[in-house]
Amino acid sequence: MPITVNHVVISVSQGDITAWQGDMIVNASNSGLYGGGGVDGAIHRAGGPRIAEECAVIRQKQGGVLPGEAAVTSAGIMTFRGVIHTVGPIWKGGNAGEPMILANCYTNSLDLACAHEAHSIAFPNISTGIYNFPKELACKVALDSVIQYVRQRRIPGLPLQRIEFVCFERDNADLYKATLKTYS
Ligand code: ADP
Repeated sequence: MPITVNHVVISVSQGDITAWQGDMIVNASNSGLYGGGGVDGAIHRAGGPRIAEECAVIRQKQGGVLPGEAAVTSAGIMTFRGVIHTVGPIWKGGNAGEPMILANCYTNSLDLACAHEAHSIAFPNISTGIYNFPKELACKVALDSVIQYVRQRRIPGLPLQRIEFVCFERDNADLYKATLKTYS
């Protein structure tokens, strides 16, 4: 069941984020913005070569993207208004600031979505694949940071109306749905 916070509907679904319908999707990328496996591979495959070309331009301009930060490209041949590439932390045991870096991924992505006047945005479960971030903690960090962001409406006149967590795996979808309930 979705919840509504400050007029923003926050929901969870299970599936492939490239098939989601809305304004902008977030990619769990890497610091070099090189298309990789997991959700990154799926987004580059679905969007076509233009996304990688735009990632190369960002790389040339600013040398990549640091963990916790984010950058925008077009969505190539997908119909989204853009793709927000954020770089999650690689889990190193939890004492290297991983939760704060992961929270920054969510808030910086929301800042970019607002700057691009997006009305809706979908997030994958950043860092919980190859980067090995523990799933329960990642879920808490994701929901805490997104809900706190919406509560505080950090940007005046926040354009966002809908935020969805698109979980690829069934266990993550169940975890996010159960955890989201605790915020209502
Ligand atoms: P990271 O390197 O940040 O861990 P991964 O892509 O390996 O990134 O995994 C992040 C999450 O994305 C995982 O929960 C994985 O199951 C999920 N994922 C993989 N493919 C897709 C997809 N097509 N749509 C949405 N989520 C996906």
